[in-house]
Amino acid sequence: MLSRIRERAKAHEQEIIDLRRHFHMNPELSWKEVETTKKVVAILEKLGYTIVKKGFGGTECGVIADLKPGKGATCVALRADMDALPLQEENDVPYKSKNDGVMHACGHDAHTAMLLGAAMVLKDMEAEIPGNVRLIFQPAEEHGLKPGAKAMIEEGALDGVSAIAGIHVWSLTETGKIVYRSGPFMAAADGFELTIRGKGGHGSAPELCHDPIIPAAQIVNAIQTIVTREVCPRETAVISLGKFQSNSNAFNIIPETVFMNGTVRTFNPKVQDHIEDAMNRIVTAHCAAARCTAELKYIRFIPATINDPAMTSLLTGAATELFGDASLVETELIMGSEDYSFFLQKIPGTYFNLGTRNVAKGTDKSHHSPVFDLDEDALPAGVALMSAFAWKFLSSAC
Ligand SMILES: [Zn+2]
Ligand SMILES: [Zn+2]
Repeated sequence: MLSRIRERAKAHEQEIIDLRRHFHMNPELSWKEVETTKKVVAILEKLGYTIVKKGFGGTECGVIADLKPGKGATCVALRADMDALPLQEENDVPYKSKNDGVMHACGHDAHTAMLLGAAMVLKDMEAEIPGNVRLIFQPAEEHGLKPGAKAMIEEGALDGVSAIAGIHVWSLTETGKIVYRSGPFMAAADGFELTIRGKGGHGSAPELCHDPIIPAAQIVNAIQTIVTREVCPRETAVISLGKFQSNSNAFNIIPETVFMNGTVRTFNPKVQDHIEDAMNRIVTAHCAAARCTAELKYIRFIPATINDPAMTSLLTGAATELFGDASLVETELIMGSEDYSFFLQKIPGTYFNLGTRNVAKGTDKSHHSPVFDLDEDALPAGVALMSAFAWKFLSSAC
């Protein structure tokens, strides 16, 4: 069965590459994936999928579609994200972005194309699929404040679904390799915004002021002791500042306020809770000591991506059958985040990366850079593995 899946994925290779190039040329930002959604819907309708719902989060973006061959009620989901990034593409390729300042620099064009490829493969093999398959084409993975995955779940994307798999292309790993990890995989991404208010005045007269720069500077160092002195050394956490800015416009003005922001990355929710509490404690104490006040806004954007062990071994089993043991690479923890984590909070599933690094083709550049590109030779492997996961899960469930 799996060799047929591999053969069908290969048979659709050119269509998949053409689709990836179409999406690459026509990128759309988070919650603006209107044309992408229309294209996906048109293909799914032509293939004979049932469109369950299109348009999420009060937009026309995103679609869920089902294949129900009538052999059992168990349903497995496969997910692709569809959004691009606000970047000007610098690659000189025939499929270069036609939308100024917008670029598929994370590879979500390939995810959309691969999931459409899986739609073709599963349709080809419909008679042998022992259950139902739901395809989730998700908007706004990159959004942070309004994650597409969360909106889709709230609007029923996982209703009746028992398990899920998702894929991300990966320029750090050689083409065609399957990068997996059981348990914690990608970090939770939190953010914070801190405003410290004091009393401004002349730089020569600090005794008449409550200088907010002093507690701000101490807080920069003190919050690092949360990681080094309060978090267990066996755990993983990072706190980084992005901005540190006073509202003074001159060298001789003590400012009224200092603003800071930054990010916190963790894997363990207990560590995440502790860091939020400790930041509040440290900020409040330093500001009180300096006769200033603090306003700390701690925002939990994306939870940690935790892969289910059983679903991950189902995936690695499928990968071994399709491509052999040598195709598998077990990854270290990844400190980046992914809103697929919201799906994994609801149902068991797994998320994995597909290597697309080919130095000769120049596809070894960083994700989110204006020169990011991917080796399209990897795409049939992604299509085959997503399809195989669906088939294997349904076969084991019936
Ligand atoms: Zn990204
Ligand atoms: Zn991405």
